[in-house]
Amino acid sequence: MGAMDAVSLLEPLREEWLKAVVAALADDEITALGLRPQMERFYGLLLQSVRTGEPTLVDSILHNWVWSQTITDLESEKASVIEVLQRILTATMKFLHAHFPPSEAFELLMALQPYFVHMVEYAAAQEMHAHLEHSTAQLEHLQEELQQLERSKSEFVSLAAHELKTPLTVIEGYSAMLKEAILELAPVEAQERLLALLEGVSRGTGRIREIVDDLIDILLIDNRMLKLAFQPFWLDQIFRSLADELAPALSERSITLHIRRFPGIERVIFGDALRLRQAFRNLLVNAIKYTPDGGRITVDGKLLPGFVEVVIKDTGIGIALEDQRRIFDKFGHSGSPLTHSSGKIKFKGGGPGLGLPIAKGIIEAHGGSIWVESRGRDEHTLPGSTFHVLLPLRDEPPGEGDESGVFLKIASYLKSPPWKGGKSS
Ligand code: ADP
Repeated sequence: MGAMDAVSLLEPLREEWLKAVVAALADDEITALGLRPQMERFYGLLLQSVRTGEPTLVDSILHNWVWSQTITDLESEKASVIEVLQRILTATMKFLHAHFPPSEAFELLMALQPYFVHMVEYAAAQEMHAHLEHSTAQLEHLQEELQQLERSKSEFVSLAAHELKTPLTVIEGYSAMLKEAILELAPVEAQERLLALLEGVSRGTGRIREIVDDLIDILLIDNRMLKLAFQPFWLDQIFRSLADELAPALSERSITLHIRRFPGIERVIFGDALRLRQAFRNLLVNAIKYTPDGGRITVDGKLLPGFVEVVIKDTGIGIALEDQRRIFDKFGHSGSPLTHSSGKIKFKGGGPGLGLPIAKGIIEAHGGSIWVESRGRDEHTLPGSTFHVLLPLRDEPPGEGDESGVFLKIASYLKSPPWKGGKSS
């Protein structure tokens, strides 16, 4: 059967086809009324396609159907245009059987079939496109939300840093002014006593500043916001300056510190020297704290392929096996809270339990690792503890350029007030 024959057979049955198809698609009168004009257009264009042999004539209708679907339609995937086309095809087959003898019905169906195939293909492609756009929009939305979350996290950290540091800075400022006032205005015989009292205030604020610094560092580490300022340095530099700084504490506790000239201590490496100094300082302060008077601390190390290993060994009370992992977690120390008021370097003088987590955060931010070895904790036999730090040997800073802005903002809060030369810790 030629195309023209098919069209001339189908044209007069427009009304019957419409009734059959609308009934198959619509569940109620109102939907049926809304559907009719669209189906009328559909039928007209379908026959036009058959007449001209041009299957794309119906595309514009299908395009409208696909893109007028709501997001809910797309998400539910129930009311797809392909399903509508399938129902139209089924209704058309029944319609043909009702109005034509079987062989003619079959030939008409064959004449229409290529156009339906094209329609399904076209609708499928369009729906895929619509889904893709919808998913992309959803992804973009999610990404936006994630970025917002990231922003509020860093805003929180800088806010916390600011809120905690401002009152401290105020107290330190007043203390400095009070000191001047005492020297200028107080009677000479009272000055010594007043200055000693003021010294107590300074020690207290100094301690709070250290704790606040530690808390901020933990926040930075936890939020992966610790940014390193890579520069060339020698481990030798770091340990020499730490030995100087800790000399009073060491002599107060009669502990000797040996820094071996191990291979690697004089090699230039790239890293954040200030942060690494902070990490090693925490390890040395702990070694002092958990070693009884008269003990000995040794810094040693070796060069490994691509790494330098630093080993800090003490002759102290040691660490129980079950604690050796936990001590690197925030607030994961094993001491009793009763010891916490004691001085910084006093034997077993516990702190807030942030020293090791910070050291770990800094070392891991460098791509290194830290672990401890100890036969256990025993205050009588003193098995000692050995901390190992593995640092990658970098010959240049790692790739530059990522969001250092946030860090700079926070770093500005971390600076000590101008009247206290440098960081107090
Ligand atoms: P803090 O000393 O403030 O409690 P740290 O994070 O520095 O917190 O250390 C966590 C815990 O690890 C300490 O409370 C202590 O029990 C244990 N520890 C750390 N270093 C040593 C050491 N050198 N010898 C024995 N115990 C140690």
